[in-house]
Amino acid sequence: MEEHELYGCPCCSGTIGCLFRVNETVRDLKEQAATGDDSFRNRDLDRASIGRRNFIRTGAAAASLAALMPKEGRTQAISTEETTIFTNAKVLTVDDAFSEAEAIAIRGNRILAVGSNEEVRTVAGKNAAVIDMQGKTVLPGFIDAHAHVISGAIADDVMEYVGMNSYATVDDVLQQIAQRASETPAGEWLVFRNFDPAVQEGAETLTFSDLDPISSEHPIFVLNASGHIAYANSKAFEVSGITNDVSDPPGGEFVRDAEGNLTGMMKNNVAFIQIAENYPEMTKVEPVDALLRLLENWAQHGLTTVSELSLGVLCQSPGDVQIMTEAAQSGRMKARIRAYPFYTLGAEAWDRADVMQGNGNALARIAGYKLVADGSNQGFTGWQREPYLGSDNRGLRYMEPDEMTAAALERAGKGWHLAIHGNGDAAIDNILDTFQALVDAGVDMSRVRPRIEHCSILHDDQIARMKKLGVSASFLIGHVYYWGIAMRDKVFGEEKAQLLDRCRSAEKAGIRFTLHSDFMVTDPNPLHMIEMAVTRRTWKEPDYVLAPQETISVETAIRAMTSEAAWQLFSDHELGSLEPGKLADLVIMEQDPRDVRQDEIKNIRILETWMDGRQVYSA
Ligand SMILES: [Zn+2]
Ligand SMILES: [Zn+2]
Repeated sequence: MEEHELYGCPCCSGTIGCLFRVNETVRDLKEQAATGDDSFRNRDLDRASIGRRNFIRTGAAAASLAALMPKEGRTQAISTEETTIFTNAKVLTVDDAFSEAEAIAIRGNRILAVGSNEEVRTVAGKNAAVIDMQGKTVLPGFIDAHAHVISGAIADDVMEYVGMNSYATVDDVLQQIAQRASETPAGEWLVFRNFDPAVQEGAETLTFSDLDPISSEHPIFVLNASGHIAYANSKAFEVSGITNDVSDPPGGEFVRDAEGNLTGMMKNNVAFIQIAENYPEMTKVEPVDALLRLLENWAQHGLTTVSELSLGVLCQSPGDVQIMTEAAQSGRMKARIRAYPFYTLGAEAWDRADVMQGNGNALARIAGYKLVADGSNQGFTGWQREPYLGSDNRGLRYMEPDEMTAAALERAGKGWHLAIHGNGDAAIDNILDTFQALVDAGVDMSRVRPRIEHCSILHDDQIARMKKLGVSASFLIGHVYYWGIAMRDKVFGEEKAQLLDRCRSAEKAGIRFTLHSDFMVTDPNPLHMIEMAVTRRTWKEPDYVLAPQETISVETAIRAMTSEAAWQLFSDHELGSLEPGKLADLVIMEQDPRDVRQDEIKNIRILETWMDGRQVYSA
């Protein structure tokens, strides 16, 4: 029987919140939420006024997101009269008919007209600025329906990505670390994230013997993609004051060799936080700035709306709302955010902070409530009907069925839309039972708009139940591309792996679905995600197509990253398609994804991204 390292869904665990407990802002927000103290700190003096007056607190007089933000309307300055026409374009409107147009005009932050050059010019008037697109393709801005931008941004800001997107082998990763060491002054930390030896070819782990030769002058810290393992060099242990005498904290481990000596590997955040919190950037990085930088960076991929599916995890309190709010009020946000308060804080904590469904405005809004049924399939903690390959382990339930149903009934009863994480087939059974219980209780499911997150393993009987209950799916399509071979060979075996991310079957059954990155599980690149769903090729064996019967058309994949995502995030009235009256979020590309080879979709150049009527990226 194979021994696997078990780990949960990194996005849905509290790792990031724990890792950043030393961060000054995180600490303040957590404290304020706990004490109800809204007096501002010195560090807020130079901040936007919102930071001083209106910290989210618990208690009866809590300032709610609703109070902090205008219900509707724009918060970023632009003349409402300013009109721009894009002519001679190939506008893929992604309306119901997937219709094409020649031109589009925007006025202020809204779409004014879509049609022929002449039609649009007539509506826009003589004073409009005209941009000749010379045949370029215009699409609605892309929407990542499931990511973790608030907790992920801060990690992204202070940890360099060394994951499989960019580095195929462990040696490549080590080379990159050495490169950084050679160009960084001695004594400064080198910190990395998303190292994944389960997928990246080479050694299974990193130890002192790998990292010490790279540098004895720089503390080096590397976080595993799972978020539950980390590695450091001797220097990092030394500056953290951790010696061979250290004892393991409850629930964590400093891994030792046969002689009882530390190896540099650590399990669980309670252990590796003792190293990581000595990295000064961890303390100082400003979450709002990190978030703004992340969204600015992602504009190059055409993302105009992103999401936070575990709101509250960073500050371990509703304080996360404050971060989102400040970002939205800064006037510098390059993408919109739709957020889901996370269940581990408890419904009462969110109610006390007066955070409710629909709070916010078009830039930042509370979209729904998030529950979690199980762990991660590649971490062998997704809850399964049958044991994992060559094992008697069936995974883990994060919520018991009764508990999940009670929580869902309570939230839905207060008007919440629900997103429930389910990776394993048995977890999805439990989620469907929960949604059935809502129907039985007479809950209006059109208001709940229930979605299953990742929804990784689906049987035909489950697809039928989803259709009947009006449940939609959001697929982490990188599971197919990055982990497809591991799913086939290590996790499920060939037969069950065919049930992974069943996009075509969902489409045929009339089940709505989206594609997502689950950032930081994968870094979001919408064109690449579209390509993954269209080809279902795998990273490890590029000629192997995992479940070819589940490939979808380019049009369907585009919908999954635009109009369907807008619908799942309760924003279909304002986003997701290029139609008059909707918000002016669009992406301009060199080519139409339908016109290139399927394995070239990810290489299409993004030329410009516009959000809220403003150009936020230009190549
Ligand atoms: Zn997630
Ligand atoms: Zn998840």
